[in-house]
Amino acid sequence: MNNTTNFEYFNTLLVHEVGNKVGPVAPTITPSAAFGYTDAQEAEGIFASQVNKPLYARVGNPTNAKLEGIVAKMEGGFGAIATSSGMGAISMVVTAFMNTGDELLCIGGFFGGTYALVNDTLKRFGVSNSFCTVDDFEHIESALKRGIKMVLMESVGNPSLTLPDVQRIIDLCNKYETLLVIDNTPTPLLLRPLIMGADIVVHSSTKNMSGHSAALGGVAVFRAVKEQGDKLLNPKYADIHKIVKKMGKKAFIPICKKRAIRDLGMTANAFGSFMTMIGLETLSLRVERVNKSVERIAFILDEKLPDGVSVNHPCLASSPDNARYKADFSDGCGPLLTLDCGTKERAFTLLNKLNIVIQTANIGDNRTLALHMQSTIYSDFDDEARKFLGVSEGLIRISIGLEDPETIAEDFLQAANTI
Ligand SMILES: *Cc1c(COP(=O)(O)O)cnc(C)c1O
Repeated sequence: MNNTTNFEYFNTLLVHEVGNKVGPVAPTITPSAAFGYTDAQEAEGIFASQVNKPLYARVGNPTNAKLEGIVAKMEGGFGAIATSSGMGAISMVVTAFMNTGDELLCIGGFFGGTYALVNDTLKRFGVSNSFCTVDDFEHIESALKRGIKMVLMESVGNPSLTLPDVQRIIDLCNKYETLLVIDNTPTPLLLRPLIMGADIVVHSSTKNMSGHSAALGGVAVFRAVKEQGDKLLNPKYADIHKIVKKMGKKAFIPICKKRAIRDLGMTANAFGSFMTMIGLETLSLRVERVNKSVERIAFILDEKLPDGVSVNHPCLASSPDNARYKADFSDGCGPLLTLDCGTKERAFTLLNKLNIVIQTANIGDNRTLALHMQSTIYSDFDDEARKFLGVSEGLIRISIGLEDPETIAEDFLQAANTI
């Protein structure tokens, strides 16, 4: 498989990967926290990662392992680790690789939780950062040249909806031997960064992957480590060379398990992983439907919204990202679009007039959701940060669900006509 979207391929792959042909068809939930070992020798082998059996549920369990295998295939990766949440996946990856004194580069607009993690929490632990817009290649290249250790980027800016030139950024990170982590939460199946050459993909599986809002979860997916000349062998990653040399191809997994999840405990639970797999079965159908609906709704709203309310989505000719959308995100860029109502008061009025749309701080649900950004997720941020993240005073973020697109558009139009 190359990076082209093939929904029918994924429809087949995902239902069969999640289900079992013999025995219980649905995945088995193994909630045990501990696992008995056959004998002392096996215990030694499990702890040395030489025997592939469960050790203790904080570092993995069989239900998580099933989910990890499915997501690794879906992303074209070599292995994966399921985590307690999307933030768990991001913090696992960052804490596994970064030390005090290291620097992160963050490209583009960011989800509020990630922005706060980088800007507040990691800073408290001595990990510095810089931010830049997706096309500031001068900044990107100068950071890479000074030997930073990690680049963090979202496949689609949330809620800014800016689209990065993913391939160009991947190529630069590979040229300068720097780890690139892409948060692919809004675009599972639509974008496959590992196949394009990225190192790590993270997801909040709470969102599109599940769709049902019934399970908080995350997952990090890794490429295989190259037998020779892998970027992890660059001197700047000296503190993990021992693991890389010992574990070879699969080294990303023990690096994250031994340096983050074992000590910090952001592990997925079996029931959550089961629920995530139930969502994955239908992911391909849902992604195709939602992304078609997003375009349809954006076009209707663009044509019919009253003066003073505007819609933003890269599929619209008025969007600065329209050319990149057509070239690189031809099957869609996820469930989001935004409305700018000008002021907070007008945004509140519109939201409170909606009949079927749910007001909540989530995205990628099977139901359509909406939320005023400035007063909620971004309320702790100063004006400058909000400006960088594309959060204007009257901004409403919408996440389109599975309902009839005409009905969703009508709901927004009737609400917009009251303000
Ligand atoms: C929601 C979200 C996260 C965080 O995921 P949780 O499962 O809520 O911890 C990270 N990145 C993006 C893009 C998100 O939308």
